[in-house]
Amino acid sequence: MVKARDIGLDVKVPKKECNDKKCPFHGTLPVRGKVFVGEVVKDRAQSTVVVKWDYYHYVPKYERYMRRNTKVSAHLPPCIDVRKGDRVKIAECRPLSKTKKFVVIEKVSK
Ligand SMILES: [Zn+2]
Repeated sequence: MVKARDIGLDVKVPKKECNDKKCPFHGTLPVRGKVFVGEVVKDRAQSTVVVKWDYYHYVPKYERYMRRNTKVSAHLPPCIDVRKGDRVKIAECRPLSKTKKFVVIEKVSK
C-alpha cells in the first residue's frame, strides 16, 4: 500500500511515490477551487505542463456559440506520468510560481 494524503477529490491515487513538496498526494500542497480536464499541449519544461481545454461561449447578438479555449500552466508531480497529447485532470491550488496555480492530479483515460 502506497501512503498518500486524501486530497478531497474523487481521483485515483498515483501508483508511484515521490518526495515532491508540491505534490498534493505525497507533499504538503492543498488543492482547492476549480477542477478542469484538458489536454497536455506542452511537456518540455521540468515538472510543468501546459494544459488546454475548449468550451463554448454563447454570443446573444448572433444567437450562436463561439468556440473558446483556455491554456494554463500546471505543476506535474514526479509520481504522475503524462506526455503531450494526454488528457489530464488539474486542480486549482495556491500560486506555485508566477504563472502556475494548478496541479495535475490525474491522467484521464481517453
Ligand atoms: Zn507524488
